[in-house]
Amino acid sequence: MTDHDSRAGGFSTRAIHAGQEPDPRTGAVVPAIYQTSTYKQDGVGGLREGYEYSRSANPTRTALEECLAALEGGARGFAFASGLAGQDTVIRSLLQPGDHLVIPSDAYGGTYRLVDKVARPWGVEHTPVAIADPEAVRAAIRPGRTRMVWVETPTNPLLGIADIRALAEVAHEAGALLAVDNTFASPYLQQPIAHGADLVTHSTTKYCGGHSDVVGGAVVVAPDVAVEGFADAADRLAFHQNSMGAVAGPFDSWLVLRGLKTLAVRMERHCDNAEKVVEFLQGHPAVTAVHYPGLSDHPGHEVAARQMRRFGGMVSFQVGAGEEAAVKTCGATQVWTLGESLGGVESLIEHPARMTHASVRGTELEVPADLIRLSVGIEDADDLVDDLDRALSTASA
Ligand code: PLP
Repeated sequence: MTDHDSRAGGFSTRAIHAGQEPDPRTGAVVPAIYQTSTYKQDGVGGLREGYEYSRSANPTRTALEECLAALEGGARGFAFASGLAGQDTVIRSLLQPGDHLVIPSDAYGGTYRLVDKVARPWGVEHTPVAIADPEAVRAAIRPGRTRMVWVETPTNPLLGIADIRALAEVAHEAGALLAVDNTFASPYLQQPIAHGADLVTHSTTKYCGGHSDVVGGAVVVAPDVAVEGFADAADRLAFHQNSMGAVAGPFDSWLVLRGLKTLAVRMERHCDNAEKVVEFLQGHPAVTAVHYPGLSDHPGHEVAARQMRRFGGMVSFQVGAGEEAAVKTCGATQVWTLGESLGGVESLIEHPARMTHASVRGTELEVPADLIRLSVGIEDADDLVDDLDRALSTASA
């Protein structure tokens, strides 16, 4: 792709080439892992390509940041040590004490903890709302104080869907930014900036990395997003990324870059397998509800069909027999691994009420006790279905 605009082309072409020109000296086609903290200067201040110190910039991280921006259709990307480190940088760089933030009432628990236990004591107030309802979001706006609307879609673990375009309008009318956590969909299935979002965040730990071998985060900023005091929100984020320092290391950046190259093919298979698992669950007598935006009776189906390429690899379902039956099912699988996290090639099963969402028990974010969450991997679908079938029978025996 030498002499070629590495941002041109379809999704997979960009995933494989954006930010990743073959090395001019050796021709190496894979970006090097620049495991270095500092760079030789050609005379004081004589930086080579701007590299001075690896908290500020590192070539492997630059390659990842350019690739992420190209995949999300944004102006600039930033890579962080974790998804939450990226979210923290967004909140503390683009908001100030006294500002107000609207968040989903079923936000990821870690995001809620960050907003409630870190941002609030710092002076940023928040209001949780049912983010699927743009009118509820409009009603939660505090004129002149709400500076950001935070969206997750699909949500964790109930796979709720929010209308990005409608929420962008509500946020922009109020002079607020729209930030979308795109972790569950991945940039392959959904590109929020094309629907009006100002910022996109990812836990690259999940689908972007895709192999459960790295913890990382990303923020991508849309073109021409202005914030008070800065012509461009990206400059402000860059300043805070360097000042706060929660950057992605070179090897972690390289792992995410490698994961992104296969994102499209992995996501297609995640979706194929999820559809087969959903079909099986719908026909199983022990299952009382299946939550998947691809189902035509899902309340967000039409919006999801408009803004997502396909409906993803995350599925949750309820077993009418109650919490103990759900817990037993999670412990009885052999191909599905009982564990937290999601988005890797291997299928994972978990009980949100006692695991990922235990911290929100007794609050308005509480999830049903008989709910099971699946991160459908890319193994053979028949093996996944057979294993679930066995586990559901064991639990009801
Ligand atoms: N956003 C969502 C939707 C998540 O599921 C997670 C982690 O599970 C995060 C953000 C936080 O990412 P990380 O664990 O990489 O900090």
